[in-house]
Amino acid sequence: MSDEKHSIAIIGGATAGAEAADIFAKQGILTVVFDQNPRPYGKIEDGLPKWHVNLRAKEYAAIDRKLNQEHVHFVPCTSIGQDIPLRELVDDWGFHSVVLANGAWRDRPLPIEGADEYVGKGLIYQNPYIMWFNHRHEAGYTGEQFEIVDGTLVVGGGLASIDVAKVVTLEMALQRLRERGIEGDMEEMEIKGIPRVLEKYDLKWEDLEIQGSKIYYRRRQCDMPLMGIPPGADEARIAKVEKGRLNMLNKSTSKYLFEVIPQHAPKDLIVEDGRLVGLVFARTLVEGGRVIPTDETVEVRAPLIISSIGSIPMPLNGVPMNGELYDYQDWDTGTLAEYPTLFSCGNVVTGKGNIVDSRKHAKQVARHVSEDYFKLAEDVQALDPMSSDARQSLGERIRSRQKQVEYGGSYESWIEAAKPPEFC
Ligand SMILES: Cc1cc2nc3c(=O)[nH]c(=O)nc-3n(C[C@H](O)[C@H](O)[C@H](O)COP(=O)(O)OP(=O)(O)OC[C@H]3O[C@@H](n4cnc5c(N)ncnc54)[C@H](O)[C@@H]3O)c2cc1C
Repeated sequence: MSDEKHSIAIIGGATAGAEAADIFAKQGILTVVFDQNPRPYGKIEDGLPKWHVNLRAKEYAAIDRKLNQEHVHFVPCTSIGQDIPLRELVDDWGFHSVVLANGAWRDRPLPIEGADEYVGKGLIYQNPYIMWFNHRHEAGYTGEQFEIVDGTLVVGGGLASIDVAKVVTLEMALQRLRERGIEGDMEEMEIKGIPRVLEKYDLKWEDLEIQGSKIYYRRRQCDMPLMGIPPGADEARIAKVEKGRLNMLNKSTSKYLFEVIPQHAPKDLIVEDGRLVGLVFARTLVEGGRVIPTDETVEVRAPLIISSIGSIPMPLNGVPMNGELYDYQDWDTGTLAEYPTLFSCGNVVTGKGNIVDSRKHAKQVARHVSEDYFKLAEDVQALDPMSSDARQSLGERIRSRQKQVEYGGSYESWIEAAKPPEFC
């Protein structure tokens, strides 16, 4: 530890946190990564649906490589804001800087007054649903329980809502095959698409008598963010992206047989006997990028409604909020007025549910902190290098917390013992 001049705490060890840790560690900065969970894989483990076998294995390996290196200390099972107050970490532990990389784990509430009264009574949210879908087969799973329900209505339009709709059609198809004594394979069905797998058994989708799932989207299908529009794109470029999006969507709906009903914005609840049994939608117009609800309404009934309209950061004790989001002073670097040494990176600040975006943003923020911020602060002598006393005291705190959560100090042995069940 003795050559380490600076120290940084990172909250969250997944895609963004591990990327930032890698950049800090490579510069010889003492980097302490706290994660609330035993494993640091975040949405790679709990967000990406389980059929992404290869992508998940690749991302796990990347996170492991970045956290299992000199200068990085991992502290699992430690929720900042609950187990350790953020203010204490920032002010008392002796870190030169703290970086939030804690992602976006709360579902944006369905925007109809009173909707949340029906959570668990006809309405569920995407984040716990996918968490259940990924972990339900594990012996030790103690989280929320859900069911796959044919005819599920998904409110959404983003990539995650497509995954939710796919969960329903893929699972229903597998269930119908099982009823015919055929043990299908989820991964194969996801890769080849449902119709091709059914062909093998001389079956068609119609033979299975499945209602499937429908996504109700407030914009047009060509607005679905399956491809990004580059900043400054002209009309011709925008039209090309919109065409590309439609092609991608058609490919997806023909492989997974869900439907997308565009230009419907949720407006009201249909409740019967204390249960949500449907939604009233307002038809919309989309003009100049804006969604304009019309007076025309449509009632849609469904046995289950899943809201998948985006993830927002969980409130963190000590972090001021501005509506649904943290009250950032600077959105590029995720700074907060009350914490001059704090920065944020990844999904917690970008709001983009995308691995590449989280990693790219973490790189930018970590470089800014380690190069511009440290250098500037050193130049004006606002930042003293760690004294040996400070280093010792910080080391003691880290070891004490690691001991408390029974982490022996070796990342490799810890991860080996806490391996995700699919690798056991
Ligand atoms: C259904 C679904 C499908 C997706 N599919 C894709 C896809 O196909 N391709 C793609 O690129 N992206 C996809 N994504 C998005 C992608 O997985 C995430 O955007 C990305 O992994 C986020 O990385 P992150 O590091 O910013 O945040 P996270 O992965 O959310 O990491 C945050 C970490 O912080 C920890 N943490 C949170 N709070 C605290 C606290 N208080 N104290 C300590 N630790 C804390 C968490 O445990 C977690 O490990 C999908 C997401 C979902 C939900």
